[in-house]
Amino acid sequence: MSKIHLAALLPDEITEKLHLLKQFRGKQIFQWVQKGINNFERMTNVPNPIKTLLNEQTILSTSKVEACYREEGVSIKLRIRLLDGHTIESVLLIDTQGRKTACLSSQAGCPMKCMFCKTADMGFKRNLESHEIVEQFHILSSLSGDISHIVFMGMGEPLLNLKEVRKAIDVLHHPEGRNIGLRKITISTCGIISGIEDMTCNGPAVRLAVSLVTADDDIRKKLMPVSCTNTLKQLKQTLLAYQDRTGKWITFEIVLLAGITDREEDINKLIAFIPPLRASVNIIPWNPAHGLPYKRPDGTRIKWFRERLAASGIVVTQRYQKGNSINAACGQLFVDEPGE
Ligand code: SAH
Repeated sequence: MSKIHLAALLPDEITEKLHLLKQFRGKQIFQWVQKGINNFERMTNVPNPIKTLLNEQTILSTSKVEACYREEGVSIKLRIRLLDGHTIESVLLIDTQGRKTACLSSQAGCPMKCMFCKTADMGFKRNLESHEIVEQFHILSSLSGDISHIVFMGMGEPLLNLKEVRKAIDVLHHPEGRNIGLRKITISTCGIISGIEDMTCNGPAVRLAVSLVTADDDIRKKLMPVSCTNTLKQLKQTLLAYQDRTGKWITFEIVLLAGITDREEDINKLIAFIPPLRASVNIIPWNPAHGLPYKRPDGTRIKWFRERLAASGIVVTQRYQKGNSINAACGQLFVDEPGE
């Protein structure tokens, strides 16, 4: 019999799946699981017969850390092996104020084929299950201490696996567990319209970031195949409806590729694209990824781009450069799976 995966079960689901007679036992077990314990013996308020049941029928974590790279005080990158042998990566980012953000994967590999992203080279393996998403968080937290923020900017496209991402968020947001506020969680999408519509109607009410990359329709179609079927025009309509309903700001991520998305006309198209959306722009200078034919603009160009946008009244932030030395930055997550 395959074991019950505990990491993404809510208190009532634990009670129900284990046929526990007392409702509060589910809550007690949930609290321990979400503390990230690695041994049922540590559940001091749980009676021994229930511990035996847990040992026989359940598993706390299915994920194995295969490698851990650290850039002291800045980032940690983990290579994690899943039960079926696929491998994913998860990153912890520490900002200048010491705030810790978990950058989680939602899929093993990615089907989106964005030309500038190294993860695309892996191809798509499969969707992650909610417990595999929560387990990434627990492992990062066991290595780094308290984590305050979560971004779904690791491997994969979260809006193609929204059901499992949603469940993982329900668990990590739960007040009896980690209690991470919804405003401290960000889902980043390459622009999956059906997924944004689903979020508009059904939540989760987390922050939404859209990897616009560029507001030039032709160039976007070349760089991001998703844009051929989920066009910029449709994307904007969908985001307007999202904003109407939720009232939430959106972040547009603009990946700066020298000579391709950092031109004068890119700035003008972006300025024209945004209104009446209420959105800020996050500039991500391209991170070199082995074998890809792009260039990161130089510092002067990046500054010029940022200042031009800001001068037009747009709120602009720039991704603080993290994780480059261990290939943990945006678009550098890649696992070469043997035999494929
Ligand atoms: N699939 C989701 C989340 C994963 S990518 C999405 O597309 O949003 C997270 C961010 O990294 C995206 O904004 C993506 O455009 C950006 N990115 C990908 N490769 C990059 C690279 N080599 N350098 C900088 N940013 C990159």
